[in-house]
Amino acid sequence: MISFYAGNPTVSTSSFSTLALTPAELDNLEQLGYRDMTPIQAQSLPLILAGQDLIAQAKTGSGKTAAFGLGVLHKINPADFATQALVLCPTRELADQVANELRRLARSTSNVKILTVCGGTPIRPQIESLARGAHVIVGTPGRLLDHIERASIDLSTIHTLVLDEADRMVDMGFYDDIVTVVDACASTRQTLLFSATYPADIRRASARFLKKPAEVKVESLH
Ligand code: ADP
Ligand code: MG
Repeated sequence: MISFYAGNPTVSTSSFSTLALTPAELDNLEQLGYRDMTPIQAQSLPLILAGQDLIAQAKTGSGKTAAFGLGVLHKINPADFATQALVLCPTRELADQVANELRRLARSTSNVKILTVCGGTPIRPQIESLARGAHVIVGTPGRLLDHIERASIDLSTIHTLVLDEADRMVDMGFYDDIVTVVDACASTRQTLLFSATYPADIRRASARFLKKPAEVKVESLH
């Protein structure tokens, strides 16, 4: 029996190369200057890549976007034009930041289309963009609800749903909108909930949205 990693001193346990990622994905991480995983990435990525539902609690700046982003992107089939992942964010600014990080992480996979769907921009062009299709949608709950009501979005083909900054979304009063958006997503999806804190209302939300979730919590930043 040969073990690939035991006894190899050049591969630290927090190296991205310990994960089941493709050589192209690993090359791209190296080009981004991401050599070692942050603690939240090291704890959550093996579970995410194994297809588990997950509640991950870690502070701002701990690298949560790449944690869920690598999981989301690894599962995308670019040849399938259906929407395969949805990332819910509290604000347009955060959705833009997440979409930008996902685009950097997606450089290793050809032609992954990532679309932001947020309020504060005219809805008509957004409806047209949605009609052209996107593999990954990053958006805010209110505007996504609007598209569900207009039937201009189809979330029934989602493989992965991410609730990013779940505590902030609930603080901002989005709980009911989130319920409607989540109910429009395929029930067979993997669901990942990321939060800086884990108060009672987030526990309630996770019981409703996730199936047998694993839980990881990281106190320190690096
Ligand atoms: P969070 O969502 O937890 O607040 P972010 O995902 O925004 O954190 O990441 C914070 C910063 O850390 C970003 O600038 C990101 O590019 C960087 N980063 C993430 N993962 C790594 C890593 N493994 N190595 C180096 N930098 C990283
Ligand atoms: Mg974040």
